[in-house]
Amino acid sequence: MHIAWFKRDLRVWDNEAFTNACKSKSVMPLYIIEPKLWEQDDLSYRQYLFLKDCLKDLDKELKKIGHNLIIKSGDAIGIFNDINNQYGIKEVWSHQETWNFWTYERDQRLRSWFKLQNIKWNEPKQNGVIRGLKNRDGWSREWQKRMDISPFEPPKKIKGHKFISETIPSAKQLGLKNDGIEIIQKGGRSEGLEILESFLNKRGKNYSKEMSSPLTAKNSSSRLSTHIAFGTLSIREIVQKTTLRKKEIQKLSKDEKKNWPKSINTFLSRLRWHCHFIQKLEDQPDIEFKNMHSSYNKLRNETNNNPFFESWKNGLTGYPMVDACMRSLIKTGWLNFRMRAMLMSFASYHLWLPWQKTSKYLATLFTDYEPGIHYSQSQMQSGTTGINAIRIYNPIKQGIDHDSDGIFIKQWVKELQNAPKKFIHMPWENLNYIKDYPLPIVDELAARKAAASKIYKLRKEQSHKIESNKIYIKHGSRKPRVKKIKKNFKIKKEDIQKNLF
Ligand SMILES: Cc1cc2nc3c(=O)[nH]c(=O)nc-3n(C[C@H](O)[C@H](O)[C@H](O)COP(=O)(O)OP(=O)(O)OC[C@H]3O[C@@H](n4cnc5c(N)ncnc54)[C@H](O)[C@@H]3O)c2cc1C
Repeated sequence: MHIAWFKRDLRVWDNEAFTNACKSKSVMPLYIIEPKLWEQDDLSYRQYLFLKDCLKDLDKELKKIGHNLIIKSGDAIGIFNDINNQYGIKEVWSHQETWNFWTYERDQRLRSWFKLQNIKWNEPKQNGVIRGLKNRDGWSREWQKRMDISPFEPPKKIKGHKFISETIPSAKQLGLKNDGIEIIQKGGRSEGLEILESFLNKRGKNYSKEMSSPLTAKNSSSRLSTHIAFGTLSIREIVQKTTLRKKEIQKLSKDEKKNWPKSINTFLSRLRWHCHFIQKLEDQPDIEFKNMHSSYNKLRNETNNNPFFESWKNGLTGYPMVDACMRSLIKTGWLNFRMRAMLMSFASYHLWLPWQKTSKYLATLFTDYEPGIHYSQSQMQSGTTGINAIRIYNPIKQGIDHDSDGIFIKQWVKELQNAPKKFIHMPWENLNYIKDYPLPIVDELAARKAAASKIYKLRKEQSHKIESNKIYIKHGSRKPRVKKIKKNFKIKKEDIQKNLF
């Protein structure tokens, strides 16, 4: 018997692992709910609700081709052991997974166990992420090649005998408590396909112009992140459908085109970024915990019960745009890129909090939590990669630029309901309008300057530069700069291929 083990690929369409497993005489379509995974501090109630929708939808898709989804709850090795004792497993098929450290270690243990049991574990590639990559040269070409492959079609009928499923445990049974979510994004492939279609044909028209404001991005961004994270749609099918749409747009008249061409290209570049960022975690799983650049190790210390952390996590910093973003995220599970970056930057620079702590909290709030993107971005917005420009967002300016009338702020920060436009971004300037809203917990300008000076001082050191260049060669996207680094440091091509520098 073969097992099609669904992980973060909850679909039957363009699922190479599933399609291949179905070539055997008997196949069990399996999903394992691992209680220990759901105990980790980056997982949450809202993510589990989305997962449950996806599992129900996947079950429907599978039934159309002759078998329901088999759910088992428990430790993965224990479950495979039971199935093996009962039926004898010949091969297991699942996509390569680049997820959090817990799943990385689980897969290491499983690999040894499968070997001992003589079970063949096949792991086809899931997206543009390359396992065992030596360096980034040619990565983009390889990504495109993978995106051009025809999607894998599911079989017309699943063969073999029928297996019995357990029911999906409730969130409560897994010890997951309601985390304040009020507007829940619906999971499942049918929902994912609908929002892809509405984005490519209607909502995405002004994407490039409207993606930065939380007011407009809510509708103009694709909102596909959670579907991509759970794999209800494959990144390849999204790229292919977007490329087809791009060709259609090219044929439109100037009047019909308007902002479409720029928006489609911006969106395509984000789809590539998706894999570019996950590749970093694939190449270096410890960036979930460790600063990418070691110079920053002693810069921010882990402090428990830091009052700044409590104010930031509850949206009580006294900076309206920061607080509105945090409160909106708590209730909806989603935020646009710029505002995520601002939240992280404010925590890491103005409040000088360690990203290791704040990123775990944000992970639980993002229904679309994707560790590869999340930790790379968290480090980037905290200045610890050593290879990216330092960008310290001024939350007052962000508010004025992207919510000038304070509509978004008033929606989420009810205490500022009566503040006029003049004071909405700096309510401390007229205390008459503040009832229960806190005063700023730090002085914005002073905190920004202090953070910048500490970071720039470090970045000037020669040892910082040397390590930065090595990191750039390992993780950086290939722009002309890499040639300059290779030349300056006389790194031989053979050494780069062997990763010996
Ligand atoms: C601190 C921080 C943490 C983040 N954590 C996550 C996370 O856990 N999961 C997640 O999916 N995204 C994360 N992002 C990236 C980005 O904010 C979200 O992908 C985006 O807001 C999701 O909305 P959307 O699907 O409408 O995106 P769109 O703008 O429509 O983009 C389409 C897709 O491209 C990918 N993408 C978009 N922006 C980026 C980016 N900057 N880097 C990498 N891939 C990108 C995503 O898969 C996204 O769904 C994070 C960003 C920051 C600054």
